[in-house]
Amino acid sequence: MSNSGKSEFLIPRSLCEIENTDNLKVDSENLASVYVAWEKGIVSELKPVNIENKKPKKILFPRFVETHSHFDKSFTFGEFPNFKSTYKEALSVNLEEHKTRTNDKVLERAERSLNLALKNGYRAIRSHIDTFETQDKNIWDELFKLQKKYSSKLKLQFVALAPLEFWDTPHGEVLAEKFSKEKGILGGVLVPPFVNKTKIKYLISKTLLLADKYKLEIDLHIDESTIEPGAGIKLLLETIDRLNIKVPITCSHLSSILSLNNNEILKLGRKIAEKDIKVIALPLTNFWLLNRKDKSTALNRPVAPIKQLQKSLVDVSIGSDNVQDPWYPFGNYDPFYLISLAMPILQLNPWERLTLSSILLSPSRLLNLNWDGLVKIGCPADFVLLDAEKWADIFSSNLKREVLINGELYT
Ligand SMILES: [Zn+2]
Repeated sequence: MSNSGKSEFLIPRSLCEIENTDNLKVDSENLASVYVAWEKGIVSELKPVNIENKKPKKILFPRFVETHSHFDKSFTFGEFPNFKSTYKEALSVNLEEHKTRTNDKVLERAERSLNLALKNGYRAIRSHIDTFETQDKNIWDELFKLQKKYSSKLKLQFVALAPLEFWDTPHGEVLAEKFSKEKGILGGVLVPPFVNKTKIKYLISKTLLLADKYKLEIDLHIDESTIEPGAGIKLLLETIDRLNIKVPITCSHLSSILSLNNNEILKLGRKIAEKDIKVIALPLTNFWLLNRKDKSTALNRPVAPIKQLQKSLVDVSIGSDNVQDPWYPFGNYDPFYLISLAMPILQLNPWERLTLSSILLSPSRLLNLNWDGLVKIGCPADFVLLDAEKWADIFSSNLKREVLINGELYT
């Protein structure tokens, strides 16, 4: 199969870097008409289209990056449904599912997720994997094997999602040591109510120190709640200050801080940015699970306040979270499913730079990928090509797409 090609495309203006912009045509939805050529999987030419009044019929996106998913429980909703659709019920059903979980089941769910993700246009994914003391420890060798198996097509990152107590046990230490070789990430949950704050701070310090010892990153499910707004992030910031160490940290969810007042959010945002903590907003699960009322439709739903955080210079990504499991019964590892829901509910304009940055550029930085996601000469021809001419075509139910991986059509 050929890994070279050329054509004319529309590209969101903020996602391409063009040297000579003199004749560049950009339409009212910020889509630029460009000519792109690639050879041996690498973009060799990128220039303004040289045709009067003729608009390309395809829109080009760089392949997408999923910052937050849960392979290990994907597609379990059928067997382990959560018809109450609450956080509490999700947790309890999740624990039931753990009893029947085997390595084979996890691997099967992971491969199913990966194949969908590839087909739909992802080039990298971070997945959390539930981690507990009684678990079959071989799962990690199997998962790192899977990571290698897919490495030519997709970059995979794993986070061990454990109760914070786990990182204060010998099991935690052994896993952290293993992760220092395999580049795994330490995960945990920091969600109120926080009854014993001293103990929580102790556990956060233990996790931070362990990450520091083995040079690992941390990714926390934090403040995914409607109570005690920002209590988790405040405890985390306090502990970082006290220990005075620099560990790369991602805060997933951070949804309850939405109910702080605007000044408090901006102030907290500046502290988060100062510590170089990255944030992932997860609107779909937050909107589905949190603040549900039996007898009324509450439109008061917590989600990380993206615009205020960006204003405070925090690097914010938007992720999908769960797929067809007790936490969220829908989704299918499709970036267009995510953005066509997330943009209207978060009131983000798709033609704006900061919106596209949170979908494509921040996620590339978060996963530390070699390519920042900007289409330019020398970047890989890793594209999603859509039969579309405007944003309304992108957010439609019959979207036709082709995925190129290193210049080759993925089939
Ligand atoms: Zn999650």
